[in-house]
Amino acid sequence: MAKTVTVATKVAAVTEGVPERMCVICRCRFPKGALTRYVLTSENGLSIDTEKIRPGRGWYLCSEPGCALKFAKYRPGKPRKGKQHV
Ligand SMILES: [Zn+2]
Repeated sequence: MAKTVTVATKVAAVTEGVPERMCVICRCRFPKGALTRYVLTSENGLSIDTEKIRPGRGWYLCSEPGCALKFAKYRPGKPRKGKQHV
């Protein structure tokens, strides 16, 4: 039996030395500089980490407007209280 293996090979133009990060919404990879980093504040809010050096949990978001919209509803780190439909 011949096994058909489908390999989804994504050929990304990776520049050496440039760290890549993944957009938390669309899960596409971008150079770190092209993404906006959000960090969780002590008040459980999100703030933009412009320097990308703040400690703690952070999320990267690309510049797609659709991702920004989804990210507004995305609650990273929020403890789940059972199955709730909003
Ligand atoms: Zn995105």
